[in-house]
Amino acid sequence: MTLSILAGLFLLFLVAIIFYGYGFVLKSSRRPGTENMEQCSLCRNSFNKRALVEREIGDYKLMYFCKSCITSLHDAAARIH
Ligand SMILES: [Zn+2]
Repeated sequence: MTLSILAGLFLLFLVAIIFYGYGFVLKSSRRPGTENMEQCSLCRNSFNKRALVEREIGDYKLMYFCKSCITSLHDAAARIH
């Protein structure tokens, strides 16, 4: 009797862990609306990838720049003479 209760509790515990793990995987793998978001490398604000300019640095690193950062870079470059 005690053994079957223990076995039942263990099974319940196991199922709870599986569901918890499954929920965690589901939550981290896809959050709606954030899959196309990327952070600007300069101001660290999140934007849709389509609104960002993408540049490859070296062999593997991708950097994204938003429009306002590029504009401020352009303004800074214009002041160089
Ligand atoms: Zn930016």
